[in-house]
Amino acid sequence: MLEVIEKLLILQDRDRKLRRIKAELGAIEPQRHALKTKASGAQAALDAARQRVKEIESRRKQLELEVETKKGQINKYGQQQFETRKNDEYQALAKEIEHCKANIIKIEDEEIELMEQAEQAAKQVESASKVLKEAMAIVDREVGQLDGSETNLKKELAELESNRNDLAAAVDGATLSRYERIMKTRGDNVIVGIEHGVCGGCHMKIPAQVVVHCRAQQELTACTNCGRILYYTRDMVLTATE
Ligand SMILES: [Zn+2]
Repeated sequence: MLEVIEKLLILQDRDRKLRRIKAELGAIEPQRHALKTKASGAQAALDAARQRVKEIESRRKQLELEVETKKGQINKYGQQQFETRKNDEYQALAKEIEHCKANIIKIEDEEIELMEQAEQAAKQVESASKVLKEAMAIVDREVGQLDGSETNLKKELAELESNRNDLAAAVDGATLSRYERIMKTRGDNVIVGIEHGVCGGCHMKIPAQVVVHCRAQQELTACTNCGRILYYTRDMVLTATE
């Protein structure tokens, strides 16, 4: 194998690792964000349940006041009945008192309904708290794992990057820029084998004279279709599988 191919394969292997680690690092923040969003959804559900309890309680207090007001009115009408001597006025006041009593019964029915709703709402607060607690535990644990992976990946990336320049410097300038140019357009599959008579990058059949040129291992050979740099090793099967 050409010495430059060996160096390029080492460099390519390094670049693949770098690209993979960068991709893994890039995926961490979205995952962390998704986890935190999940927890904030559970928090919102709990807040809504607590708000419902408050609303029911304030409605109940309002109804209590209404009952007190009605009772006050009944007393007042009773007093007026006691004071009047006119029968029609007495009857009108009796009607008002009946009206107030009927209203009180209606309000008390609503209060009973509210008590049932309050019981349900309290249960919802309890279950939403439980869900939130569980979600927070999962989020804390998983965010912790992500933080740990991030630290390790950053360390690994720094180590791999630190001597990537040395690996690149081992390749002559013209070949290196050719390699990097192909990498820009084709990704990290630049130096490819010619297994089964096809290019390991674009999988197109390689003309016989190009295969011969590559096997001679005198200078770099490019795929006539995609321009990737081809290499040959003894264990490669050169005949095409038809
Ligand atoms: Zn090709």
